[in-house]
Amino acid sequence: MWIPSGCEQPRWLKKAAGTLAAKPELATATKEIMATHPVRLFGDPVLKQRSREVEDVNGSLVTLAESMYETMYEALGLGLAAPQIGVQRRIFTYDTGEGPHAIINPEIVEASGEWSYNEGCLSVPGMHFEIVRPKVVTLRGIGLDGDALEIEADEILARVFQHEIDHLDGMLLLDRLEPDERKRALRALREQDLATIPRSAGPAL
Ligand code: ZN
Repeated sequence: MWIPSGCEQPRWLKKAAGTLAAKPELATATKEIMATHPVRLFGDPVLKQRSREVEDVNGSLVTLAESMYETMYEALGLGLAAPQIGVQRRIFTYDTGEGPHAIINPEIVEASGEWSYNEGCLSVPGMHFEIVRPKVVTLRGIGLDGDALEIEADEILARVFQHEIDHLDGMLLLDRLEPDERKRALRALREQDLATIPRSAGPAL
């Protein structure tokens, strides 16, 4: 099991590991009731399209968010955007250690500083790239309760927000690379069967 470098092991991971260690029979039972989705991988056209704004925050979004949480936890992701499970709506989920959250129609209204992070993506398994992005961002969006929210985020949380909004805009972390590095990455991706790559290489978004 990986532990995100530079940040504490997420609480859900600790809790899940503790519970499953104490009751091994739960590990199988829990797996069966999880409504998870396969994570769409690089090459899937849904990852290249801009997702549409959510116009009506209703109960179906809560159901969607719950299945996104399960998918995100099963994939050991710190974040997950709806297009990664084939849903072209502007919503993403995340958990960097404070429990699961979902943001609807997110936008970054302020960004400052620079922060380099070895970024990975659940849709590009097994690859990490050192990418510089703003260190602090202010995000506005809507919560699952329908209320407007504003969050100032730093470092890893700021990175998750930026990465997931890129997904909603049809961008992958590969699009953030320098041209030469991007070319090398695309060549490597063509030569691999992504579905066979284990996800245990490190945190991914
Ligand atoms: Zn991603």
